[in-house]
Amino acid sequence: MSVLLEVSGVSVTFDGFRAINNLSFHIGEAELRAVIGPNGAGKTTFMDIVTGKTKPDEGRVIWGKKSVSLLKMNEAKIAQAGIGRKFQKPTVFEDQTVQENLLMALKKPRGWLAVLAYRANVADLEKAANLAEEIGLKEELARKSGELSHGQKQWLEIGMLLAQEPRLLLVDEPAAGMTPQEREHTTDLLLHAAKTRAVVVVEHDMEFVRRLNCKVTVLHEGSVLAEGSLDHVTSNQEVIDVYLGR
Ligand code: ADP
Repeated sequence: MSVLLEVSGVSVTFDGFRAINNLSFHIGEAELRAVIGPNGAGKTTFMDIVTGKTKPDEGRVIWGKKSVSLLKMNEAKIAQAGIGRKFQKPTVFEDQTVQENLLMALKKPRGWLAVLAYRANVADLEKAANLAEEIGLKEELARKSGELSHGQKQWLEIGMLLAQEPRLLLVDEPAAGMTPQEREHTTDLLLHAAKTRAVVVVEHDMEFVRRLNCKVTVLHEGSVLAEGSLDHVTSNQEVIDVYLGR
């Protein structure tokens, strides 16, 4: 599997506090990875580094086949380069229908002005329908997004990110606040999404991580503490100590 993103020796200091400490991480094309770790481990800061929101004091962040450095690129450029991020709270346009939200997302890379002047063409309508099917909202295309359940809004936002064809998708606690059925659907959605692009899932819920059945990276005090299958990392004594707060 060829490497898509390589983070090496990265550190971030906030007011003298080392939130990320010599962290190294890499992910391959179309790989699914779970990133876990206790509160304050550095998971959010790690995603902020990858998406360009936070710039490290040292280290390298290398992207894609051409091995370009992301360090000099701003958030918008990094998003255009193919890195999408899903925050915990869904941010869909509540007054717009599911279809309109997906159509807007399909146009977003050309800028919001283009979105305003935009009239849907047949190809985009078809793409929106395919996306709706992929996220399980085919029957909801004409519904206002504000009427959707919490889980459905999360899937719609994932669909809006997929519309922009990222090569790497970062998702923060995608199953938080969901019913068991919604969690199951979210698992299927992420497994499917990771067939054609890399997906990093930051998650607290171990049962959810188990269902993803993928390699797990454990962060602690801004570094990688362990990496491997969920069974491998959860049998590591250091990981057990960290989770039990010893
Ligand atoms: P996680 O997402 O794993 O809970 P974070 O990345 O949010 O961890 O935080 C890592 C550490 O960095 C924490 O100790 C947090 O308090 C600290 N931190 C994060 N952002 C800032 C900031 N802007 N200023 C100061 N400290 C911060």
